[in-house]
Amino acid sequence: MDFKNFVAPKDHLKGKIIAVTGASDGIGAIASTTFASYGATVILVGRTVSKLEKIYDAIKLSGGATPGIYPICLEGASEQDYQDMHDRFEETFGRIDGLLHNAGVLGQRTPIANYKMESWKTVMQVNVSSPFMLTKALLPLLGKSENASIVFTTSGVGRIGKAYWGAYSISKFATEGFSQVLASELEGTSNIRVNCINPGPVRTRMRAAAFPAENPITIKTPEEIMPSYLYLMGNKSIAVSGFSLDAQ
Ligand code: NAP
Repeated sequence: MDFKNFVAPKDHLKGKIIAVTGASDGIGAIASTTFASYGATVILVGRTVSKLEKIYDAIKLSGGATPGIYPICLEGASEQDYQDMHDRFEETFGRIDGLLHNAGVLGQRTPIANYKMESWKTVMQVNVSSPFMLTKALLPLLGKSENASIVFTTSGVGRIGKAYWGAYSISKFATEGFSQVLASELEGTSNIRVNCINPGPVRTRMRAAAFPAENPITIKTPEEIMPSYLYLMGNKSIAVSGFSLDAQ
């Protein structure tokens, strides 16, 4: 399947309820508006409400289904906070068909010898522990879907470690591992598929922070990598689980 050039029909995600973390900016914001434009009801999960409201307005303005906004800081949230999220989603939506773990932080770009514990903790909390707690809390609602898709966001440095990428690189290795463990557990026993997506270099705030000297015009926009995201969230990928795909 040529998922990088996947062309979705207009009603590709019609009737689906999809939660996106880090929906306020970058890839998550565009994934949210894109999913909505293909018929999904999107739940915008993030910490900066003013930015989430802009995405909400953009979806409404373009005629999409009324999205949900769920404000939460993934760095400070406890297991109980994720259980509360489950309860609210159950009450409002009854089930979840898609979960895009997209929120992420870069942390320091420095040798391990200089890496600060504070930065390590933040990166591990947002990039690894939060997706663990969120997935665990939402599994029952994903189980209520006819076929559900969990998508984790990885990175090239989550497959091959590179100097100075510190906790970020290590957190993305953990993401790949988590995705594999969960996919293997759910295989044959549920309708939930689990995959990773590596966006590749994409024109966002995080990329600019990692590569300040790069001319942003030379790299792809979030809009350009959406075919793979649409593929993984829609029914065409029902049989696909346990993979780590490259969006470019
Ligand atoms: P971005 O523009 O920096 O956006 C990151 C998103 O995560 C924002 O919505 C941000 O919310 C949210 N976030 C960060 N910390 C949070 C917290 N504590 N609680 C809740 N939300 C939080 O990054 P991006 O480039 O779109 O990256 C999206 C994903 O792709 C990440 O997992 C990243 O590792 C991965 N990735 C990106 C690239 C690339 O080239 N861009 C390459 C490989 C992988 P605020 O708006 O409130 O800050």
